[in-house]
Amino acid sequence: QKKELFSLKGLAARTKNGQTIKLLANIGGPWELPKALEYGADGIGLYRTEYLFLNRETLPTEEEQFQAYKEVLAKMEGKPVVIRTIDIGGDKNMPALNLEPEMNPFLGCRGIRFCLKNKALFTTQLRALYRASVHGQLKIMFPMISSLEEFRAAVKCAEEVRAELIAEGHSVSGRVPIGIMVEVPSAAIITDLFAKEVDFVSIGTNDLIQYTLAVDRMNKQISHLYSPFHPAVLRLIKLVIDQARKGRIEVSMCGEMAGDPRFTSLLIGLGLESFSMSPSALLAVKKQIRALKNSTAKALAKKVLALSTAEQIRAALEDKEERSD
Ligand code: PEP
Ligand code: MG
Repeated sequence: QKKELFSLKGLAARTKNGQTIKLLANIGGPWELPKALEYGADGIGLYRTEYLFLNRETLPTEEEQFQAYKEVLAKMEGKPVVIRTIDIGGDKNMPALNLEPEMNPFLGCRGIRFCLKNKALFTTQLRALYRASVHGQLKIMFPMISSLEEFRAAVKCAEEVRAELIAEGHSVSGRVPIGIMVEVPSAAIITDLFAKEVDFVSIGTNDLIQYTLAVDRMNKQISHLYSPFHPAVLRLIKLVIDQARKGRIEVSMCGEMAGDPRFTSLLIGLGLESFSMSPSALLAVKKQIRALKNSTAKALAKKVLALSTAEQIRAALEDKEERSD
């Protein structure tokens, strides 16, 4: 079966009707690039930059970050690379940052909230990103955005950094799209408003599930409640895709659901055209895509959205996956 998957490497991610789906890779650092390239990723849909800050006493310098971002951009040779600004807090604590303990870290000072409170750290990362922007096709993505005000404040920082670099004589790419992770329900619900201001959105289902269902993604006691099949999760995903398409902005998905072949047909049926996942999942998802008729995907989406429980939805999707094998 592995051999069969490997035979898909050079083939297009195209449905039976000829619709091309973008398959991007999630990476945690430059060391995952060879695998992403080997499995034929069309680009990087999520570069988690947290690793630069992990397990160390001091913060990474602008130069160190610049080198890492430049390496990824250069090695992707002009393919799009979405680099997410640091997403710390919650489950991702970092000794170098001396974070204060919080009662509810997942609802606390994490992601963009942390960056907006620690401007020097944020600015250093943004400087490194914009300096690296001339080495490839960079897109910047902010995590944990929950309101327009937050997005605007982050963009203001980015614009200031950009102007400062230009004033210093650095060269900076003329066009660096800025987008957001949609992983907080409040952001999902106002996707139509975001669509007027952002260049793209990427659905982060790992957090979107935890915040929609009020189920801590790390808590083993309640892991049975953490379900991507919950109808509320699917309705939110549909809302984000619909509103992003209506607002004519690019929409992608970079949470675990994107790399789970049980959801491939459903998501395409809902109108998703771009998926980002761990490189090792790319071929199994491509296999689903190549076997898919768009009319079947549409019908599946309609059927699944009419179901009322996670169990019914799981059964419908798993049954469908078995039959396509
Ligand atoms: C997500 O929340 O779906 C996501 C991709 O981000 P992370 O897993 O890094 O929180
Ligand atoms: Mg997340």
